[in-house]
Order: sequence, then structure tokens, then C-alpha cells
Amino acid sequence: MRCRFCGKKADIILKMHRIALCKKCYPRFFENRVLKTIEKNKMIEDKEKVCVAVSGGKDSMALLHVLKKTGFRTSALYINLGIKGYSEKCEEVIRSYCKLHDIPLIVYDLEKEKGKALDEVSKLKRRATCSICGTIKRQITNKIARDNGYNVLATGHNMDDGLVFLFLNLLNSDVFAISSSKPMLEGSDLLVKKVKPLYRFTDLETRYYAEIENIPYYNGKCPHSKEASSTMYKEWWNSLEEKKPGIKNSFYWGFMSNIQPIISKYASEVDPRGDIKRCKICGEPTSRDICSVCMIFSKDAAGGI
Ligand SMILES: [Zn+2]
Ligand SMILES: [Zn+2]
Repeated sequence: MRCRFCGKKADIILKMHRIALCKKCYPRFFENRVLKTIEKNKMIEDKEKVCVAVSGGKDSMALLHVLKKTGFRTSALYINLGIKGYSEKCEEVIRSYCKLHDIPLIVYDLEKEKGKALDEVSKLKRRATCSICGTIKRQITNKIARDNGYNVLATGHNMDDGLVFLFLNLLNSDVFAISSSKPMLEGSDLLVKKVKPLYRFTDLETRYYAEIENIPYYNGKCPHSKEASSTMYKEWWNSLEEKKPGIKNSFYWGFMSNIQPIISKYASEVDPRGDIKRCKICGEPTSRDICSVCMIFSKDAAGGI
């Protein structure tokens, strides 16, 4: 196989995109595709300021790198959740990368700000740690991006993440979560526009980019990921893909183009959550009187949430 761009021997064959590339040309392919995704979905308009929520992993670091390299007004935001043996290593990688590339970085330290780190909160609550983590990150990234005047909040979610998220929500029959699994969610007064410019790439394709571009990332796993059902389903889909190549693609893209819009339309008509209100404690957007984050950090530590 020959590289589509330069004609030399190809190193990477991407069946999904029906293209073969050499290592030297791969970054150009990746970057062009990210730019096309952004343009087609109007994810980032001219002069908009982008805040990339980074975790230190390959996807968010690759996203930060590609947005900076292609000329967007890019900053990084890291939420240090206080996960022992993990959060500090991720922060180190992010700090040194941002310093080297002159990227403004905001670090939010959960323990300093809220009095408790995730490890401590999760011991006190009955809810799964990863679910608590997701709730906290969703609210804080939005609040910080909004309060610091960013127009866009970008995350490194890729196709494999999207597939697992969709699958979990299908198993739970959560039509409202399925209706919001889109590459872009428009913003409002309280919510910053959220975009996923890597949503068309697989885990492997992003890893190729990070490695060829020498982007540093933390390769260790979060100690809580063992408990996450998403980890189990990711592995399950990968083993299915080995037996039936192409199944991930056909299921995910088939669903997203044929079924997701119907569910979205239905969900918008029957949404029981009502209008977005402000939390009575912190003022952040919520569908209830008190937001989930305030419930997590409430004094009633053993509360039902
Ligand atoms: Zn080439
Ligand atoms: Zn609140």
C-alpha cells in the first residue's frame, strides 16, 4: 500500500476512512479532518476563544495540540480531583506541555475549592465514583469556561467514547442522555457551547497522532476506572470488533444518523425536566432546586446521591 499523499510506502492503513498514509503525512490528514469537522459543524467560529478541558490523557492532549497548531485561540483547563497517585501525575504532564507551548492554563483544585477531594467524597457517597466525577467535571468546566469569558468548551471525546456512552444509555433506556449525545451542544446564558472535535476518530487514530507528533500524555489509568462500567463495555466492543470487523462503525454511525435524530425530536417534546433553573445554593444551572454538585458536597454526606 502506498501513502495517499506522497506515494511512499504507507505505515498506517485506516479502513474506516479507506485511506493509507505514511507516518510523515498522517498528522496532515488528522489535522485536516479535525478542521473539516469543526467547520462543518460550526463548532468554533472566527475569533471565538476555546477552552480545552484536559485530563492529561492522549485524547485531550491531542486535541489541545491540534487546536493550538492550527491557529485557534486556545487555553487549557485542568480539574485536579485529588485522585491519589493519578491527578498529580496528569497535572505535571499538562503543566509542562502548556509552559513549553505557551498555552494559558487554568488549574482547579477540588480539595482546595470544595474542601474534599474526589477520593474522600466517593467514600462517603453511595453513588459510583465515576458518576460523581462526571457530574463534578461537567459543572466546573462549564462554570470556569463561562466565568473566564470563553466561547467554546472543547473535550477530547472520540468515537469509542461516544459508542460506549450511547450503548450505556441504550441499556438504561435513557432517551434524554441519548438525545444529547451530539458532537456539539449549543450554549446559552449559563451554559458554554460544548464541542467534541475528535468525535470522528477512534482511540487508535488519536493515539497514532499523539505518538507521531510526540505529544506527551499520561498513559496510566485512573485507579477508579476498574469500577467503571464504561471500561468493561469498551473492552467488550473491542472484542466484538475483532470477531466482526466494522461492527463498531456500522452500529454507531447507523444509530447516530438514523435513530438519534428521532429520539432527539421525541425527547425535546416530552422532556419532563422542565426549564433550566439556577441552583439555590451555588447559582449554577440545574433542572432541580439544588444542583447535583451541591448535593454531593452537602453536609449530609451519606445522602442518597
Ligand atoms: Zn506520505
Ligand atoms: Zn449548586
